[in-house]
Amino acid sequence: MTAPERRTIESVRADFPMLAARMNGRPLAYLDNAATTQKPRAVIERMSRFLSSEYATVHRGIYTFSQESTRLCDEVREKCRAFLNAARPEEIVFVRGATEAINLVAHGYGRRALREGDEVLITELEHHSNIVPWQRLCQERGLRLRVAPVNDAGEVLLEEYRRLLGPRTYLVAVTQVSNALGTVTPLPEMIKMAHHAGAVVLVDGAQGAPHRATDVRALDCDFYCFSGHKIYGPTGIGVLYGKMKHLEAMDPYQSGGDMIESVSFEETTYAPPPAKFEAGTPAFVEIIGLGEALDYVSSLGWEWIGAQEEALLRLATERLSRIPGLRIIGQAPHKAAVVSFDLEGIHPHDVGTILNEEGIAVRAGNHCAQPVMRRYGLTATTRASFAYYNTAEEVEALVRGIERVRGVFA
Ligand SMILES: *Cc1c(COP(=O)(O)O)cnc(C)c1O
Repeated sequence: MTAPERRTIESVRADFPMLAARMNGRPLAYLDNAATTQKPRAVIERMSRFLSSEYATVHRGIYTFSQESTRLCDEVREKCRAFLNAARPEEIVFVRGATEAINLVAHGYGRRALREGDEVLITELEHHSNIVPWQRLCQERGLRLRVAPVNDAGEVLLEEYRRLLGPRTYLVAVTQVSNALGTVTPLPEMIKMAHHAGAVVLVDGAQGAPHRATDVRALDCDFYCFSGHKIYGPTGIGVLYGKMKHLEAMDPYQSGGDMIESVSFEETTYAPPPAKFEAGTPAFVEIIGLGEALDYVSSLGWEWIGAQEEALLRLATERLSRIPGLRIIGQAPHKAAVVSFDLEGIHPHDVGTILNEEGIAVRAGNHCAQPVMRRYGLTATTRASFAYYNTAEEVEALVRGIERVRGVFA
């Protein structure tokens, strides 16, 4: 990885063309980074250059452009390996995103090894993508879905979690960071406890990978996934990491070209991982864009990213908690830069609509996490989610925007 360079916020913002956009006549304050992130010029230009002057398919070609495409994709697989500190590049499977990665594991690992009466354990914090695939698997296979609850602050209750783990627990699926509340889960402890009970662990890193260094070998998780579009890369591409012994034992998720060793009408044998899970022509333009996005994040360095986002979280929490009638949902001491809030007597859609008029982009809704919303007696919140490129001025604009909302509804 390239050595991180010290950057000013102005120069970093200048790398993101979209951050200069205006919305409804105001400078855009983009505070919806937990939904998707903006793209640095390096990603946009790399994809554009590849499409304009290097484009050719992967795997099949014997001609130069195709060989070069193949080499570029192999290089990105190695970058993903290094990014997660996986042991081997073959443990990196390219998928469409975190959702597809979780479905792949539910299908390929779930079906193979689960026995009736076994249990899948998730937490109350999970995104629908880390609930519904397990729920469907449980329904189909006669398994039981168990859910570890959270406390009022939004932290997983570790004693409850420990109590729910047992000899029947086959698999634990847990998020690294909650997209709805920002809670950072205590993965090292949770993974140790799960392994002690004999369960394998899938970590949903969709909100974790973009904001903190992740070491899958130090964590010792069995599976880990993230989405390219939430880490300043393109849509339509994501990564599933799996320990080789699991990937080898798993059934393919989809089947077709590129995932086979030999095919006849009587029998097909599969290629080894990762090819076994990558049926069809891969999203190779997006793979190349993802590689560029990971390089960009590495060039900033986790220390700078962490300091920037921590300062934004502290400022936003401090400023918003002084607004009368505003309740921050999710106050875990260990949190990522997400501030979800409820404004007394005002529907989040109304909050979001008025903020939109001020050029402020926030999410208003259930954040694909209805169960955790219910936990707090809500159907929706307004959520501001920050990235390192956001500024203190944008936090102040948000505060002024919320004051305007309160004025309108007074
Ligand atoms: C966004 C998100 C997902 C799903 O990611 P996709 O890119 O939509 O597949 C899963 N889990 C969490 C925590 C998320 O924030």
